[in-house]
Amino acid sequence: MSVSLDLADPKTRPVVEAPALHPVRAGGEDKPSLIGMSRDELGDALVNAGVPEKQRRMRTAQLWHWLYVRGVSDFSHMANVSKDLRARLAEDYTIERPEIVTEQISVDGTRKWVLRFPPRGAGRPVEIETVYIPEEGRGTLCVSSQVGCTLTCTFCHTGTQRLVRNLTSGEIVSQMLLARDRLGDFPDIDTPAGAIVPSAGRLISNVVLMGMGEPLYNFDNVVTALGVISDNEGLSMSRRRITLSTSGVVPEIVRAGEETGVMLAISLHAVNDELRNELVPINKKYPLDQLLDACRNYPGSSNARRITFEYVMLKDVNDSLEDAKNLVRMLQGIPAKINLIPFNPWPGSLYECSDWDQIERFADYVNQAGYASPIRTPRGRDIFAACGQLKSESERMRKSDRERMESARILELSGNGEA
Ligand code: SF4
Repeated sequence: MSVSLDLADPKTRPVVEAPALHPVRAGGEDKPSLIGMSRDELGDALVNAGVPEKQRRMRTAQLWHWLYVRGVSDFSHMANVSKDLRARLAEDYTIERPEIVTEQISVDGTRKWVLRFPPRGAGRPVEIETVYIPEEGRGTLCVSSQVGCTLTCTFCHTGTQRLVRNLTSGEIVSQMLLARDRLGDFPDIDTPAGAIVPSAGRLISNVVLMGMGEPLYNFDNVVTALGVISDNEGLSMSRRRITLSTSGVVPEIVRAGEETGVMLAISLHAVNDELRNELVPINKKYPLDQLLDACRNYPGSSNARRITFEYVMLKDVNDSLEDAKNLVRMLQGIPAKINLIPFNPWPGSLYECSDWDQIERFADYVNQAGYASPIRTPRGRDIFAACGQLKSESERMRKSDRERMESARILELSGNGEA
């Protein structure tokens, strides 16, 4: 399968700010959303709306089809649902998509959406980022699970943003619905002219929970959302094509495998506790030996279902050949593959990306040791959509406002400021 490249030379194509197609206000300010409910919860909602118990299963299947196969976001489009039931559902529930604050398209075709959700107790609307990465033969959607993050991994931009709240299961699922809308991946919606997408097969072939937040700190909502995304009468995403990435919340790792059956990725980045305590501070609570034990016990892992270990390449920090050797030694006995990620810088970041030669030397060593370790080509760097670069737009703005005010203050103090 190849990637369609109908656009002008992508190297010269500018970043595109696309207008939002959806309502400008955030959907369902006060109403609960039917999106992201489990089948049982959706059945309860229908019964509450007056559907007789004996029709519960049939009506649930009907709605499920409209929501996840047809992708409708308006009750009035549900042609085979009675007008009366549609009206009752619309009174109490919403199925609207989140507001799109911005949609940016990178020169390499990566798309980043800044999405706004209602406050739901957080005091103000919240924003998160979702990223679509088209590649040869696949399209990966990187989904967020929290607004901000409590963890403070020092190489990660999200880690500089405090946690505002967990996303609901509906908000997690609706990132996928919205991406499918915008990519034309539902019936009756066309793919935008010139979009870079896989030329055959599903436009979103893989989902990774590697966006903002630590998914295992939002366990229940993530489990429910993954149940919806993998339901084979709806969005129908194979569990083998869904990857949950954790920084190492050890007590929840095995349970996550049991309850979701999805693939596991570990945000590893260091081969000794001293350095990992600094890069991924949750390591102080759950050190490497505990983390690796949890990986050994991850349900269903095998050579055909390997655990991915993500390793960001930081110049002179974790990129020596000695580190590569220790990495290989450390992963012995675990069905593993290693993803080497060239560090993606962000404003204020403390690290530099390793030199390319060094990344290749490191990759050669781990490859020869039997770990498939593709170097993840940086994608979407120009729109801050690459690994570790996500941060909500409002936070970015606040930060740059603070920086502007600080510069103005310095100018004023030095007598150079304008009156
Ligand atoms: S890497 Fe993940 S867990 Fe760590 S700060 Fe970033 S979003 Fe949070």
